[in-house]
Order: sequence, then C-alpha cells, then structure tokens
Amino acid sequence: MSDRPLQASALKTTIHWSHQDSPKVGLILTINRGLSLIASQPITAGERLMAFDGSFHEWGATTLSLPNEAPLFIRDHCIQIGEGRSRDSNGLARYANHSCEPNCGITDLIWITAMQDIAPGTELTWDYAMTEDNDWRMDCSCGSEHCLGVIAGYRHLPPEKRMAYRGYLSSWLTARPRPYLGPAALLHTPVPLAKAG
Ligand SMILES: [Zn+2]
Repeated sequence: MSDRPLQASALKTTIHWSHQDSPKVGLILTINRGLSLIASQPITAGERLMAFDGSFHEWGATTLSLPNEAPLFIRDHCIQIGEGRSRDSNGLARYANHSCEPNCGITDLIWITAMQDIAPGTELTWDYAMTEDNDWRMDCSCGSEHCLGVIAGYRHLPPEKRMAYRGYLSSWLTARPRPYLGPAALLHTPVPLAKAG
C-alpha cells in the first residue's frame, strides 16, 4: 500500500494506510455507505486484516468527551478497549462499517479478523457491539435481514448474538459478566453519534 494519504475531500477526511493493513483489504467509496472496505483477494477465516494500532484516548464517563473534529473524527472511528478508554487506528480499520450480520470480528483487543472465509468483492464488516459498551448510539441501516435497528453496544447485544460472536468479542468486554439490558430499539433515547463511513 502507498504511504501517501488519500484526500477524500467530499468526506472531509484524510485516509492513511498502516503497515498492519492486510494487502487483501481494499477501500472503495460507495453512494449509500460512504467509505467501505472490501476483500480484494480471497480471505480465510481467522486471518487478521487490520488493527486499531493508533492513538489512545481516555474519556471517563461519556464518549461525548472524545474529540470529533475534522479531519480525523476520532470519536466516530475509534474503538473502546477498556472502561472509559478507546483507541484509534493508524490505517484502514477505522473505516470498517458495522453490520448486524458481520463477516469479521475482534481478536486480541485491536484486530479486525475474518470470522469466515470471505470472497473477493465482499464488504468487510464487524459489529460495533463487539467492542463498545458505553453511551454511544447509532441508528442502524446495515440492510441485514436480522438488523437490530439501533447499535448501542454490548449491553444491548442479545445473548444469541453474544454466543454467535464467541471468540470475536473484545476481551475487555468478556473479562467479566455483563448483563443484557434488552433491545436497544426500545430505549427511545437520542441517537446523536455516527460512526465509520
Ligand atoms: Zn443493522
């Protein structure tokens, strides 16, 4: 991959690649989902694809205290790695979109890893509830048949999803029991934040 950042002026962001990014990950600009990552070559289940290898951010009680200004929009692109603690990516990981039926998950706290074999041209997605458990919310329009409607973190991830994602949930979430608080779609809380794209 080139070391030269790509200026995506329409999205008011600057894209960098990290040496951690697999050459099998491609970046495309879509009409309805913004930036999107796709498999550019066949990917095998278990392959590490990209990492949240960037800056650390302590935010305390609310993710609203995370910086979210152009060009990095850190709050919308970092992942949670502990209580009140998040980390950004130096490369493509920060542009991976959410899906309620993802083909990737999180391993070793910072890696986006393939959960299944993935064919070239397929979008690479993960479920943001695999890392987040905070006040962050986002309406979901992932298009999955089983879309939950709202992404609201691990506390609202149904038990059957937690089971399906075993081995691909961030270790900071699974280090202790965390009760399921019910469907996020019933919260009727504001959805102030966006992510990725
Ligand atoms: Zn969804």
